[in-house]
Amino acid sequence: MALTLEQQHIADSAAELLGQRAGSAAVRAAIEQGGFDRDLWQQVAELGWCGVHLPEQHGGLGLGLTELCLLAEALGRHLAPVPWFETAVLAGLALKALPAVGPVEDHAGRALQRIASGACVATLSLGDDALRWTGRHGALRATAAGEGWRVEGVTAPLPAAGSADLLLLTASTASGEPLLLAVPGDAAGLSVQRVANHDLTRPLARVGLAGVALPGAACLARGPAVDALLQGVQQRAAIVLAAEQLGVAQRSLDLAVAYTGERTQFGQPVARFQAVKHRCAQTMVAVELARSAVLGAAAAVDAGAQGADLARAAAMARCHAADAARVATQESIQLHGGMGYTWDCDAHLHFKRAQAASQWLGPCGEWLDRVADAMATTADAERAPVAAPANEPAPDAALRGEVLQWMQQHLQGRFAALRHQGGLVGPGDAGFSADLAKAWEQQLAAGGWVGIGWPRRFGGRELPIAQQVVVHEAYARAGGPGRLGHIGEHLLAPTLMAFGTPEQQQRFLPGIRAGTEYWAQGYSEPNAGSDLANVQTRARLEGAAWVIDGQKVWTSWAREADWIFVLARTEPGSLRHQGLSLLLVPLRQPGITIRPIRQITGGAEFNEVFFDGARTEASLCLGAPGQGWKVAMALLGFERGVSTLGQQAHFEGELNDLIAAARRNGALADPVLRRRIAQAALALQAQRCNALRVLDAAEGATPGREALVAKYIWSNWRRDLGALAADVMGLHTDAIDDDPSAQRLRALWLTSRADTVYAGSNEIQLNLIAERGLGMPR
Ligand SMILES: Cc1cc2nc3c(=O)[nH]c(=O)nc-3n(C[C@H](O)[C@H](O)[C@H](O)COP(=O)(O)OP(=O)(O)OC[C@H]3O[C@@H](n4cnc5c(N)ncnc54)[C@H](O)[C@@H]3O)c2cc1C
Repeated sequence: MALTLEQQHIADSAAELLGQRAGSAAVRAAIEQGGFDRDLWQQVAELGWCGVHLPEQHGGLGLGLTELCLLAEALGRHLAPVPWFETAVLAGLALKALPAVGPVEDHAGRALQRIASGACVATLSLGDDALRWTGRHGALRATAAGEGWRVEGVTAPLPAAGSADLLLLTASTASGEPLLLAVPGDAAGLSVQRVANHDLTRPLARVGLAGVALPGAACLARGPAVDALLQGVQQRAAIVLAAEQLGVAQRSLDLAVAYTGERTQFGQPVARFQAVKHRCAQTMVAVELARSAVLGAAAAVDAGAQGADLARAAAMARCHAADAARVATQESIQLHGGMGYTWDCDAHLHFKRAQAASQWLGPCGEWLDRVADAMATTADAERAPVAAPANEPAPDAALRGEVLQWMQQHLQGRFAALRHQGGLVGPGDAGFSADLAKAWEQQLAAGGWVGIGWPRRFGGRELPIAQQVVVHEAYARAGGPGRLGHIGEHLLAPTLMAFGTPEQQQRFLPGIRAGTEYWAQGYSEPNAGSDLANVQTRARLEGAAWVIDGQKVWTSWAREADWIFVLARTEPGSLRHQGLSLLLVPLRQPGITIRPIRQITGGAEFNEVFFDGARTEASLCLGAPGQGWKVAMALLGFERGVSTLGQQAHFEGELNDLIAAARRNGALADPVLRRRIAQAALALQAQRCNALRVLDAAEGATPGREALVAKYIWSNWRRDLGALAADVMGLHTDAIDDDPSAQRLRALWLTSRADTVYAGSNEIQLNLIAERGLGMPR
């Protein structure tokens, strides 16, 4: 999903032009002139923005939906008062979708040429609701007149109708057959009546046709082809509209962050108040998720997505972008205070655009209902929200097949009990058997599935990140259980590779790789949770050993692990981040006492760990003594980064369990629940797009905003899925029975409550997002 250099150039040049030409003053001046900046339109047209996606034979650039989305985002960000969406997207996509035959093709081809060259403003009506396809086309009536047609009636309010040189309108014959007609803006008998509207950058008008005569070739399509064409246009245009809304949302967020940074109250910038920072951070989460959804949907279309895949991609982009625009524009008014309620502040212009566009091409509820309908009718095997991409490269497809086959052969016999067990290592499962889980880890290791991303010199397979994802996905799809070796393999091992001595690497990596040594994470303490720098556990060097005193808490898998990495204060009198060291400590020794802590699941996967003169060798400090904070933070980066992609692959299985239960018990027929389920499915798909953006960035230099929001997104998604699971099961959430799928959903409901707490709580994530992602003050 990374942008190519050419795509980046398109985005940059659009930002540059619109930054110069469509600032607030220019937009307001255009509003005074009726909402159309003709000079800007001229420039946009000359730059070829109307023909980006149109065929080269018609003067277009022959590029894809992604390029169209990049322009739409820039135009939306500036509320550019030009009829680009109506002309290039609505009319352009409709004309492009026509079959290339006969005189119609000539007619449409000429129209495409004029659109691509910017010589014409055009618009499209999708039916009686104009901006929303419903399959009804009775507002205009067409009667055959000789070779051509005579048209009567009045359309619903249509954007750009007042300035259009070409109107693509649907009409119905007396027998109810739909037609798609190309009507010149200056046709005799055509009139336009401006309709007052709130979105002043998008004028609307009704079009009246009083006996307008059209030649036969003006009928571009008729019969069932009309609705098929319009549905396809609506789906593709919805993705571009989503990109535009993304621009609106981003701009609203930028304005809010800038204003709160300048505005002083209580003697400080209001941006310093956590309540304000968190609102901005939550908006950024919505914006980044929408960006991932838009880029993912556009990439899917450009890769040839059709049918259900196209419908779902469009719904994902549409719903996430509409939500981001709603949240961002609303918050922008709120965070501008009284100023936000004034006409002079631009916040209302974005707010009104967001509202109007949220109804164009059908409201989100309609899109969700279509996704839910597909869920209700699709066979179980096909109902995979994280399907293998249709155009997956051959080596990845082969690897996926290899994992699936291996799992089929090995997740058998005594291991069959582990199937779909414990989607996450962390919050545990009361019925979990550690012995069996360890035997499974060894089985995986023997199959070469541990350390798949590690360098070969450490016994790994050195798979690129994209292929690691393939393995994780296939593993999860095959019902692979949560990984007891997660902390060692995904957290400690990369840290050992980055900071460990060759001796430490040689000593510990083989045990992790073979599934024979397990690790626990000793960070949190009774008085050091979110504030980890408040660690009080102490360690001192005595001869050839570190001697450790103190207490850790919430230590997952401490009873099952062999080793623990302990963040301890090794410089007496040191404060906060200074003087800490990360020590590698054997857990089974007299100086250590482990007490299980019973969790809300009834199980006890986490523990208290007491250190009373516990010992470890002097050489087992990871990184330099006193530099433990740096090492500990790097390890957290691994915990919140690529390693979570494997976890997320398990979510698909949980969602599928939930959908299957909802189909069985009738919850999928409940209108409220079915929309929530559809929403969860689309959000999982968007989350996956976000994860792919993280991967693209991870292959490059610095992780971007998408990485910063990833933990907040997945943990909140799963918490909400847990709540949804409980609602889907209804009375069966409380009354415990033996049904294994219900047990899994109950486990999801309870274990998901930990996700927004561990690995950086929600509130800490929002602080990080606000400060690092938005540059707001500490
Ligand atoms: C299932 C599970 C497994 C775990 N496994 C491990 C493990 O293996 N090893 C390990 O070291 N730890 C583990 N933890 C601990 C986890 O990392 C901590 O619970 C987490 O960091 C929060 O710390 P705390 O519990 O002390 O809560 P606190 O930090 O006391 O937070 C209490 C509340 O205050 C909020 N808060 C705190 N500071 C701020 C602030 N500055 N601004 C706004 N709000 C704030 C928090 O978000 C939270 O809502 C685990 C936790 C869970 C739930």
